[in-house]
Amino acid sequence: MVVMKFGGSSVANAERIRYISELVKAELSRKPVLVLSAMGDTTDHLLEAAERALKDPVVSMDKIEELHLKTIKELGLAAPVVEEIRPLLGELRNLLVGISLIKELTGRTKDYLVSFGERLSVRIVAAYFNVQGVPARALDSWDAGFLSDSNFTAAELLPESWSLIPQALIPLIQGGILPVVTGFIARDGAGNITTLGRGGSDLSATTIAAACGAEEAQIWKDVDGILTADPRLVPEALPVVTITYDEAAELAYFGAQVLHPRAMQPCSKTGTPVLVKNSYNSGAPGTRITAVLDQKTGPVQAITSRKKVTLVDIVSSRMLGQYGFLEEVFSAFAKYHISVDMVATSEVSVSLTLDTDYDLGLLKKDLAKIAAVEIKTGKAIVTIVGDIRRSSNILAQAFGVCADLEIPVQMVSQGASKVNISFIVNDTQAADVVRALHRIFFEKKPESGGSISKSR
Ligand code: ASP
Ligand code: MG
Repeated sequence: MVVMKFGGSSVANAERIRYISELVKAELSRKPVLVLSAMGDTTDHLLEAAERALKDPVVSMDKIEELHLKTIKELGLAAPVVEEIRPLLGELRNLLVGISLIKELTGRTKDYLVSFGERLSVRIVAAYFNVQGVPARALDSWDAGFLSDSNFTAAELLPESWSLIPQALIPLIQGGILPVVTGFIARDGAGNITTLGRGGSDLSATTIAAACGAEEAQIWKDVDGILTADPRLVPEALPVVTITYDEAAELAYFGAQVLHPRAMQPCSKTGTPVLVKNSYNSGAPGTRITAVLDQKTGPVQAITSRKKVTLVDIVSSRMLGQYGFLEEVFSAFAKYHISVDMVATSEVSVSLTLDTDYDLGLLKKDLAKIAAVEIKTGKAIVTIVGDIRRSSNILAQAFGVCADLEIPVQMVSQGASKVNISFIVNDTQAADVVRALHRIFFEKKPESGGSISKSR
């Protein structure tokens, strides 16, 4: 069995759906399970419709309705699909009317709202397979064993899902049916619809693959796999051929937008390979993610950056030789539900980074009781992912780059996993640093790059 996940752009319209159906048909002997995102930008369009409903009394969802009905028509699908889709569109309209009346959009309502995207796409695609003589069944993820907690907009799957998913899917596959499952969404114990966070259908796919003991999880995107850098910043970026779960997770976390940050977890537990492929360029080999690398690579795998980061510097002489000080600092962050990303400490100071969207007023007041606090916004985290342990050259070269550009490095941190080294620069300098790092680690001619290419 293999899991094939197609993101929004891979099922964006009738033409794309026809194309991916050929990819799936070529894999039929491997018994695929499909996991789909909402068509194109439907998730965004749903959220926009809700934002409008909050302001306007007249509900409009034309874009969404048009896209789905047009696709059904262009795929030559008959009346039964339209009959399946109509009630969903009707329910969606009612929900939008409800939002416009109550003028309130809670996390719970948001999840219910965006769920329509995936619920529509699986029904259309399953119908298309059936028309072509491939018996397929559309499944809402809760009918495929997905059970989550009630943390709306960022739900976690409950451990029961690991046995419920194969119980639901294996009999279908054995019966020669192609399951077409909604990514991204789940349901809690009380029956409320939840979502796993934006981009969450990657996680849905890797969970199915791991729970069912699949041969591999294929994640079909619109780029040639994980790239050595963001191609919008670095046009010379190349696909990474082989990468570990840990490296891929760090990359996702620190800003490479190819995979959902938590998507590696299920497959790294079971050792199920994850393959990232391009549905616009299916011949390209893509990126293979496994526990150990399939082949030799240079010490650096990829470079990424994340902007809009806040740096918090906390200095107190009380830290000297004391215990419990860090606990006080971190409890303050916990109290206000602020998630800390990078941390670096010295004997008398702690520096840490956060996403910018937190309100830090109260936190600052609390911390000011125990230390001097300085909050600096407009920072970026630049992350080098690779086997950092293997080469202290990486550090030397990275700092050399910043020195050459006369860009001060404001904080450095190396994770215990030893697969990343991250440092902070100003937001406005991040692109230059990433480009320069990419040049020395990936674009240098072999004769001048001696020490880096040999070290792994
Ligand atoms: N449709 C959802 C989103 O756009 C989930 C996904 O695509 O993975 O975030
Ligand atoms: Mg999407």
